[in-house]
Amino acid sequence: MLAAVARGRFLVSEPQVLSVCGFCGRCCGRHGQGVEMRAFPVRMPSGVQYWTVIDSDLRVVPAADAYLRHLRFGRDAADSTTKAYAGAVVLYLSWCAATGQDWRLAAERLPSFVLWLRYALSTSGAAAGAAVRGPRRINCVLAGTRGFLAFAVDRGDAPAQVLGQLYELADSRDLPAEARGEDGAWRLRMKARHRVPVVKERVDRVSDEDAVALLKACRSARDRLLVLILGRAGLRRGEAVGLRREDVHFAVESSAAGCEFPGSHLHVVRRQNVNGAWAKSRQSRAVPVDRLVVQAHDQYVAERVEQAAMDSDFLFVNLFRAPLGAPMKLGAVNDLLAAASRRAGLDHVVHPHALRHSFASNVMDAGGTIDEVQQLLGHASISSSQVYLHPAPQRLRDAVERVGQSHQVAR
Ligand SMILES: [Zn+2]
Repeated sequence: MLAAVARGRFLVSEPQVLSVCGFCGRCCGRHGQGVEMRAFPVRMPSGVQYWTVIDSDLRVVPAADAYLRHLRFGRDAADSTTKAYAGAVVLYLSWCAATGQDWRLAAERLPSFVLWLRYALSTSGAAAGAAVRGPRRINCVLAGTRGFLAFAVDRGDAPAQVLGQLYELADSRDLPAEARGEDGAWRLRMKARHRVPVVKERVDRVSDEDAVALLKACRSARDRLLVLILGRAGLRRGEAVGLRREDVHFAVESSAAGCEFPGSHLHVVRRQNVNGAWAKSRQSRAVPVDRLVVQAHDQYVAERVEQAAMDSDFLFVNLFRAPLGAPMKLGAVNDLLAAASRRAGLDHVVHPHALRHSFASNVMDAGGTIDEVQQLLGHASISSSQVYLHPAPQRLRDAVERVGQSHQVAR
């Protein structure tokens, strides 16, 4: 590994450093207490990147590495997922070290791990006794830990009883009807034993006024098109900057291009992209777009021709910064939204995902159904779309008034 780093095959950035013996995952004394362990990005010769866990001697922790490789290459998970899960494994191994436990056997004490995650190892300068990790972060770490341990059981690195400590058998009655399968029958499923309750918040949604102000504050046709694709087609940031010109079917019909999807639409396709863009959905999907998006696209094409940046196959390319014509990077989307938010005089910065939330909420408010939202957003599970089931007050009033109309009370 050291030699590989010396040859520059692997790149290091933003390691998450924690104090633990990287050899056995414990402060064992034999391998030296307080050895730093970190999540570490590995770039393969093909350009594909995944995250692993290494110790301060740059030695890979084999069990963690096998799991993270499996996630990235076997399960086709995004680079960002392996980064989050590598961070989770580092925390789990650090807890094992701090409490003198063997990581293979510590699953029975996961409630203590939850407590430790909540209060220990603050690097943020939080006051003593204050919670340092919120419920969402803790649940994310627990998900990564479960995956790591279940994989270790599968490989024979950890005993089989660990599975029973991680999961219990449950039926599907608590799932929404749509998630129970077509026949609606109950089924047994594995349910995680340890999960911290999360208070459901309303989704972060951009108001119509703010969306219009944001569009007016855009300084180029490209930026307007990007804002519209996020806010009126609901694409994720990575899906938007991963779009290729061939994915844009804005003619009235696209049968000449071998596509039977009616009307103007975009195709969201998962590919390995040089700009790091990654479509989260494994399934490709076609998303219909409205007239505003098509018009913005026409204006953008004219702008791109003017800037002599037509070479790239990507839809969104650098027009105003070097390298000219190169595919836009993920961070550039946030930068342009932040700058437009400031110019628009908004009291907060609009994030790409808030525009996606607005799209989904608008579809629901306009009488859309949850399966339509699921399909449009490319959610694998309908439970992900349920967050948008917050009817606007007017929809609640309409629902009551419909009852009034169909059941007239005798006067
Ligand atoms: Zn098409």
